[in-house]
This record gives sequence, C-alpha cells and structure tokens, in this order.
Amino acid sequence: MQKTVIALSDARAPLAIPAAAPLDGRALADTMGRALRDLRVSVTDRCNFRCRYCMPREVFDAGYEFLPHGQILTFEEMVRLARVCAGLGTQKIRLTGGEPLLRRNLDRLVAMMREALPGIDLTLTTNGSALKAHARALRAAGLDRVTVSLDSLDEQTFRAMNDADFPVAKVLEGIEAAAAAGLGPVKVNMVVKRGVNDHQVLDMARHFRGSGHIVRYIEYMDVGSTNGWRMDDVVPSAEIVKAVSARFPLAPAQPNYAGEVAERWRYLDGRGEIGVISSVTQAFCSSCTRARLSTDGHLYTCLFAQRGYDLKTPLRAGASDAALTEAVAGIWQRRADRYSEIRTAETAKARKVEMSFIGG
Ligand code: SAM
Repeated sequence: MQKTVIALSDARAPLAIPAAAPLDGRALADTMGRALRDLRVSVTDRCNFRCRYCMPREVFDAGYEFLPHGQILTFEEMVRLARVCAGLGTQKIRLTGGEPLLRRNLDRLVAMMREALPGIDLTLTTNGSALKAHARALRAAGLDRVTVSLDSLDEQTFRAMNDADFPVAKVLEGIEAAAAAGLGPVKVNMVVKRGVNDHQVLDMARHFRGSGHIVRYIEYMDVGSTNGWRMDDVVPSAEIVKAVSARFPLAPAQPNYAGEVAERWRYLDGRGEIGVISSVTQAFCSSCTRARLSTDGHLYTCLFAQRGYDLKTPLRAGASDAALTEAVAGIWQRRADRYSEIRTAETAKARKVEMSFIGG
C-alpha cells in the first residue's frame, strides 16, 4: 500500500508578518472585530496515543519526523510569547499538544507562566494517561483546571480509538486525581464519530452525571489532512442533545462568558451539565478569539489554517518585547479566518496543518 505523504514543508512555509497599524489606546481586534482573548500553546508535537481521527498510525509511524529538539520552543520562549499576547488582551492560556504531559517538567512551565502572568486563567488539555502522576504537582505549580479527552467508556472501543491499547481505567484514575488535586471541574472531551463511538453517548452521560465533571461532546472535525474526514462521520450536536435529553432531561444553560466554545445544557434534576461543541454544524467563527502557538513557535489564527506566522525566528534573533508585540498585533489585525462558516467538501480536502502540531 502506498504510504500517505503529508507535505509538512508546504504546510509549514510561514506567512509574512504584516506591519501593525497603531493601536492608539484602542483594544486589539481583527478584521471582524474579534479580540485575541485565548492562546493555546502546543508544548510538544508528540503523543503516546494514535487516535484514528487525529494521529493515524499509518502516517505518524516510526518513520514520521517529529520536530528536532532545537526547533522546539523552550519554556522561557513560550512564557515570553504568552506575556506578549497577555499584553494585547489575552486572558486565558491552554497548554496542549500532542500530549502535553510528555513534555518533561511541565509543572515548571506552569509555575513560570503563573509567576509571569499571575492573573491569567491557566488550563491544560490532556489524554489523561499520565495525569494521576502529575495532577498534584501541576496544581501546586498554579494550574487552574484540566480538560481530559475520553472518547468511550467501553474498553474495546476506547482501545481501538486510541490505537495504543490504552485502558479506560487509567484515564478515569487521572480524572479523579485531577479533581482531588483541585483541578476541577474537570471537563471530559468526547469526540463523537458516527458508527465508531456514538453508541457511547448515553453511557458517558450516565457515568459522569452527578460526579461534578462535565462531559463535552465534540463534533468530529476536518482538522489536518490525514484523518480522511467525511461529513457522514459527523454526529450533529443537536442529535446528541436530543438523545441525552430523552433519557436525562436537559435545559439550555447560559454561557459562562461571551464566546464560550461549548454550548451548555443542564440536567433538569440538578445533577450537573453537559456541553456540546458544534464546530461543524453550527460554526462559531464570529466569536472565535483563539490563537494557537505551535511547538516550533509559529502563530496560527485558525484551527483549520494551512500556514502560520514564524515568531521563533525573530524571538531567537533577539527581537525586543515591543517588536514581538508589534508582530502579534499585525498578524491579528489582518486575521479574517472563518473556515467553519465557509466549509465545503472541497475546503475539507485542503492541506491543513495537523492538530497535533498546532495544539487542540
Ligand atoms: N493529547 C491531548 C488530548 O488528548 O487531549 C491534547 C491534544 S488533542 C489534539 C486535543 C483535543 O483535540 C482532544 O480532545 C482530541 O480529542 C481533539 N481532537 C483531535 N482531533 C480531532 C478531530 N478531528 N475532531 C474533533 N476533535 C479532535
């Protein structure tokens, strides 16, 4: 069988950084008036799972070239760029990957972020495989919350989806350890793929109701170019809400803040809530305030981007904070992305950057 070749060099050729227009005391906004409120920082492009919808084994195999050490941002560089974004209005930072807990001494990065940005909302997305061992240290270092990915409670389905034969029980232990360490409420992300794990939607709701953890059902997305995405594989959130509500009645809940990605639904019997993330069937580009910093220091203004802006080169060439601030401001002022609103079968085939590279 012919091996899939992803031309990462194409995907990674950086865009030229545009000059910034003076802010003159005004808040930074892109061409659609959106602020730069959230930054996702990918701390590694490696993962110990090979989820079929994210890092399929045929592509991310022993021959796949992950980033060499020298190209990966140091903790100091990540903190510096985070500070620059915070100076432009960023209020929330999510550490992600790849699998962020594969990066050694991640708690040190958390402590550095916390010291540099005391008031920032600092969170982590993880597959939970190493969370039990790290939860307390992460909390002690200043992490606020975690989101844990778990696509099924059914052993066979989960092991097949992560394609690393990883057991459900260990992720559940990680979730409990995180809650016990004070990293709650824990959000539990389930990507729902038709015919693969949609039979688990109700089981997840039943299991986590009343636990204080919040299940969030995510529509399977056409991120990257390697997962063979098809619209037929997407289970619309409306269908999920209907199915859960038929068994455990739900009512819509107000968003916690403007631009919240998940739509909230609370159980009428008071046993908590679920969230649905409908980036395919109900695009939320118009309220998207997220930028993503890849492991190698490129800034991406859309999860579905084909190219990013290289900030590592100026950073390593000695650019001042003012120059970096101007670079980020210029990039953001030019931003016009609204991929999910204009998605078609054709755009879905475009060569987009992989999610494991820019961070989920
Ligand atoms: N390794 C960490 C984890 O598993 O949470 C962080 C990185 S992972 C790329 C972040 C999130 O993206 C996970 O919840 C994962 O399920 C989700 N994800 C990856 N590919 C996706 C896709 N094609 N559609 C929807 N969600 C996806």
